[in-house]
Amino acid sequence: MQESKIKVQTKVPLRGLSTFKIGGDASHLFMLENKKDLKDAVAYAKENDLPIFVLGGGSNILFADSGISAFVIQVLNKGKEYKKIDDLHVLVTAEAGETWDDFVKWTIENHFFGLENLSSIPGTVGASPVQNIGAYGVEVKDLIESVEVFNIQTSEYKTLTNTECAFGYRNSFFKTEEGKNLIVVSVTFTLSLVPNINISYKDLSNHFKDIVPTPFEVRDAVIEIRKGKFPDLNIHGTAGSFFKNIICNESDIAKLKADYPLMPVYKAGSGFVKISTAFVLDKVCGLKGFRIGNVGLYENQSLVVVNYADATSTDVREFISKIKSIVEQKTGIRIEEEVILA
Ligand SMILES: Cc1cc2nc3c(=O)[nH]c(=O)nc-3n(C[C@H](O)[C@H](O)[C@H](O)COP(=O)(O)OP(=O)(O)OC[C@H]3O[C@@H](n4cnc5c(N)ncnc54)[C@H](O)[C@@H]3O)c2cc1C
Repeated sequence: MQESKIKVQTKVPLRGLSTFKIGGDASHLFMLENKKDLKDAVAYAKENDLPIFVLGGGSNILFADSGISAFVIQVLNKGKEYKKIDDLHVLVTAEAGETWDDFVKWTIENHFFGLENLSSIPGTVGASPVQNIGAYGVEVKDLIESVEVFNIQTSEYKTLTNTECAFGYRNSFFKTEEGKNLIVVSVTFTLSLVPNINISYKDLSNHFKDIVPTPFEVRDAVIEIRKGKFPDLNIHGTAGSFFKNIICNESDIAKLKADYPLMPVYKAGSGFVKISTAFVLDKVCGLKGFRIGNVGLYENQSLVVVNYADATSTDVREFISKIKSIVEQKTGIRIEEEVILA
């Protein structure tokens, strides 16, 4: 190993860096507190012939029991700034290592509105464009102006426009082979200086009935509703929704729709429809609360796979294969993971 300008730890247990509380060791870990250290970090990985793995809050990853032999850069750089652009809009930039929900809270407290429906999602600002995080009728792509990145191959900074990020449902340019060379350094959002309430999502409209809430009330309601949908991360391990909702051709689900007329079906553009994977798991496959040993589907939200106590990555992977094969046998549909398997 070369003499290094940065502080690199070796053999670091990943289970402590993942909300699933699962995983072997990272062979190398660097905690990036300041983006100016990125060049040295990437140079270190190259000099020591180590692949780079970018980590945020570890809330969307299932690490292998064998860990990873890589130079893990945990992105922790913090900072926020804003610039009002007219009477109605403000550009807000947050560094990638900001905790997502602390950032959302700060925007609302400063009367910069738009992110309230995305309250209480674990993880970092830097990961938010990678998955195009979404909840309660809002996706982060609707608010992102641009994303500043560092290219691992060229060691250069660049700013991508919203269009260049090629956002899709839990998808973006950052998940492509080319995009995997990019480390998100900061994200700029266009937020509103006046409330722009969106409570069209059923859980929120039911919560507020005929009342038009303030953004502060929307945030509180989202936090409250989510408490019932996810296990307490202080007690159990999870990475949130393990599976994506199903997007397929309308014709592929004709029989399913006929057998389950109450199944909600949403238009997803150009002949495609989106159906709730939770509905399929619960009502079609009868898997509500299904559990094998220490791994199970969360009673209150079947998309959520829970590590109830000391489950291994292998336990979770076997459980997931079982679920996928039951769904495929019953419906002919292959469901896809939302969580990254590392
Ligand atoms: C209880 C719970 C509830 C959840 N609810 C939701 C929800 O409602 N909606 C939703 O969309 N998601 C949800 N998630 C998933 C998760 O919170 C998001 O995907 C979040 O954005 C992950 O952030 P993170 O910092 O933990 O990323 P990580 O898990 O650390 O990384 C996720 C991916 O992003 C990459 N990455 C991370 N940081 C960077 C960076 N700076 N630059 C480049 N790549 C990077 C990683 O390499 C990895 O591929 C939930 C998770 C949990 C545990």
